[in-house]
Amino acid sequence: MRTYDNDARVPTPSTSDRSDVVRWSTTSLPRDSTEKNSIGVPLSVVVRPLSANAACARITDARKPDRIARCTSCFGYVSAYCVVDHRGFACGTCASYTPWRDASRGKRYARGLASIQDLPEIRSETYEFDVAVEEISLGGGDAAETEVLEENDWRRRAVRNEANGMRMSNGRAVVAVVDLNEADEEYCELLKLALSSAMEALDGEDARFAVVTFRGEVLEAISFRDLECGDGHTERVSLTFFDSNPNPRKHGFIRSVRDVVSGIEDVLTKLTPDRKSVIEQAIETLIVSDENSVSERIFGPVLEETLSVVEQAIDEGLISSARILTFLRGGPSRGVGSCDISRLPKSVADVLIRESAAKPTLEDFEFASREAEALMFPAHDYYESVGERCLLLGVEVDVIMTCDEFADLSTLAPLAEKSGGNVSLYLNSQKIPIVGDVYRLLRHEKAINATLRVRTTADLEIANAYGALHADKAYSGLFHIASCGLNDAFCFDFDYSTSAGLEEDLNRGHPKIQVAFEYTCITRDVDEHTGAIVAVQRRRRRRIHTCRANIAKNPRDVYRHVDVNAMMCVLARQTSLMACEEGLTEARRALVDWFLEFDANAKRENTSWPELGSEIVPRLVYGLLASKVFYPIGARPDERTFARLRMMRLNADDSARMMYPDLRAFVEKNGVGGNENDDVYHIDRRSTMFARGRLHLRRESLGETNGGILFLRSADELVVIYHDAESCPPPFGGPLDREIRRICDSQTLAMKITYVRLGLDDPAPADALLFEHAESEFTTMGAGLEGFDAFRQFCRLQMDKTGQIA
Ligand SMILES: [Zn+2]
Repeated sequence: MRTYDNDARVPTPSTSDRSDVVRWSTTSLPRDSTEKNSIGVPLSVVVRPLSANAACARITDARKPDRIARCTSCFGYVSAYCVVDHRGFACGTCASYTPWRDASRGKRYARGLASIQDLPEIRSETYEFDVAVEEISLGGGDAAETEVLEENDWRRRAVRNEANGMRMSNGRAVVAVVDLNEADEEYCELLKLALSSAMEALDGEDARFAVVTFRGEVLEAISFRDLECGDGHTERVSLTFFDSNPNPRKHGFIRSVRDVVSGIEDVLTKLTPDRKSVIEQAIETLIVSDENSVSERIFGPVLEETLSVVEQAIDEGLISSARILTFLRGGPSRGVGSCDISRLPKSVADVLIRESAAKPTLEDFEFASREAEALMFPAHDYYESVGERCLLLGVEVDVIMTCDEFADLSTLAPLAEKSGGNVSLYLNSQKIPIVGDVYRLLRHEKAINATLRVRTTADLEIANAYGALHADKAYSGLFHIASCGLNDAFCFDFDYSTSAGLEEDLNRGHPKIQVAFEYTCITRDVDEHTGAIVAVQRRRRRRIHTCRANIAKNPRDVYRHVDVNAMMCVLARQTSLMACEEGLTEARRALVDWFLEFDANAKRENTSWPELGSEIVPRLVYGLLASKVFYPIGARPDERTFARLRMMRLNADDSARMMYPDLRAFVEKNGVGGNENDDVYHIDRRSTMFARGRLHLRRESLGETNGGILFLRSADELVVIYHDAESCPPPFGGPLDREIRRICDSQTLAMKITYVRLGLDDPAPADALLFEHAESEFTTMGAGLEGFDAFRQFCRLQMDKTGQIA
């Protein structure tokens, strides 16, 4: 049922619709900057463009994208928040009026008001339509023959080639760069499986595939030229002169991959179903372990070589974009782009973790902070500049590191960060989930080559953006995103455009935001009975989401409508940015200061909501301070970098789970799954965090549930705690097993799952997450208290102090 508010003809989406495409830090916005500054709640949104929770209407009858109405003044899309009549509409964001005939082509809006109001774009907060569709043939034939492309397609990069009369492909290349230095047999086997699963993930897509390996001073690119004849071989390129000299060519003619192949197709082969087994065969024989290999890693030149192959393929119109998966066994140690992997001195933090059982003193803590800080900054900006080059080319680079030693990930990470790729870090000693993760990375990636356009009411403007995205240099509010999964989220801070703040009449009482997300995706139609893929399409899609907030009547109103998870998600990213710019110590201090102020303000204004100030927010702040990202002791520097990069992608709820894992009794639900949003800290009038069965992260909590099974879930780990060991591990297909699968399937990367039978198994995995007891720098200040209690005590003391001063 639709409801209407006073503002005639503006349908209000029902409040039960927990869409989280856009989540405001508070849905009651402070009126102006004076009010905002005194409140301490950031004025921000968390945008999760592909949220599966959104009730997204799919428009299939528009035929062409220009049939959907847009405002002629701000180019925003028509939405549920526009005021419509039979002649036209007043834009929800900028309030200008556009007649239908100017707003769109065709007769979509010519059938009278009732039919207009029934259109999905006017009825729904979120809607989606195709801009272009292209059939990808499955049989391995020529993809171009079946191409059904509409105007305004996405081949912007390929346009320059069209003039040359070349045949274009919109497909992409997936290139695996494999480091075979110190690669033992086990690792080689693992990689072969990972490459197979990468190919499987690309099932039906008209992708091209290449494998480049390097070991010592030799780069080898697998040539697929004579593959069908069973003559797989590699093209070898010596890296000898690439490594030490900025201008290797002056040594005479140095062969690069492009020089040794007869055509770029030799190494960048089409990935068709009939070729897959042949490619696997080639990989099988050519990726082999060599125990005698040297351990110096020449990575920079390999990367440059790979990029030049991709660049040429793009120029030739074979592909329009690429994803490079780099499988590394350690930090690059020689030649251009080498990292300073010896810059980790005898680490105090390390000694504390491994050797000493004594509690760290405040001095230890400060020393560890300085040490962590020093290792957070990249040693040089080589990878940052290569990453930027990749972004411009449309090439996304993933860094997949399997290494126990210090690999200087902080220097290497900007390669992935700038190009939009992911960083993964695995320990050699673990059971490495690399095979599943590679599959998930490629298959769960729902959008590539995306742009995100953020439009707001005129009196708000974007101040900062956080996440794996890049602001367009020409258009404000436009951001480029290399790839985006269902869970990925981006954060934006707002400022007021003028000192007047939010003006009622300008916004009809409701500031609004509209995000337009344009992306390329591969869709697969599956036969219901056989499960076989019957059709594969590449689509360029636009998803439009519009939502609104209120203008706060008073500060108390702002606090009442805080979405704690969204607020803390933004705060985590702000703090991380500050740590990178000003240092870990400063960032931690700023976070604590923010909390003290927030707490004091919230207590003053918000007596009806003690839990906001004293229960939830402090736990999340404490959890953030204790996390690998910000706590200087206990995590290896590479782990810290990895955790930071992950955090920059997490959506509001996962972000909260990272800060304060979710501990609750496992209760069998009716049917499969449940609403993902049931177990989050979303604060509204009706619910609070601990009222919903969420337990404090203390050992005592384990006893509170009278036996049974407990779920302890962080952003990347699930610990299943058994009081009674009988049914461990859970029987396949049972409710517990199904619930575990549901949680794992919803994640981009594989979760670590551990079963702990109390009294039988080592409780360490659970204890590590029950961190309200954990040591922190507050332990030494908090008069005998530990962990969270010490933090609380510290805050009380600080508050008393400032109170006295005031
Ligand atoms: Zn407008």
